[in-house]
Amino acid sequence: MKNKSILLANSIWFNNNTGEEILANNTWITDKLEKIGYPISKPLSSSCLKDLLTLRTIILEILSNKDISSKQTIINTYLAKATYTPMIINKDDTTLNLWKCESNEEDQLISEITQDLVTLFSENIIEHVKTCSNDECKDYFLDNSKNKSKKFCSSKCGNLIKVRRHRAK
Ligand SMILES: [Zn+2]
Repeated sequence: MKNKSILLANSIWFNNNTGEEILANNTWITDKLEKIGYPISKPLSSSCLKDLLTLRTIILEILSNKDISSKQTIINTYLAKATYTPMIINKDDTTLNLWKCESNEEDQLISEITQDLVTLFSENIIEHVKTCSNDECKDYFLDNSKNKSKKFCSSKCGNLIKVRRHRAK
């Protein structure tokens, strides 16, 4: 699944490009989450949308500084919005253990976006979070390539720049 903290960070570019605050648009958020396999059952409340806005500001700062340690207190507050209980389930003759979330959907969402952010640091992959070399995009992305040579968030941006360079010749 896509890293939700990067997804939230990238929603800022909608503001820069269109002046519209995309995080006020519940349909956009619901669609986006659905697309990455994280469906939510109902539109988010205004207090959750406010949390997302604040969280985005913090994530943007952390991604650009590549430092999370100075934000430990606030990060822990967001993480603690969800509580989990360990449990087992039996499925097709196998026993699986999992953590059942006891919190409501919105608190779980805020916590899990923050957990995704923390993962970038705990798994030491923050250095591989880059910004797209297409100046009109500038989206953050996680470079999963073997030699970490990716410059664009997507093949769409990569092809666009390639075509432009070709034309400029
Ligand atoms: Zn891009």
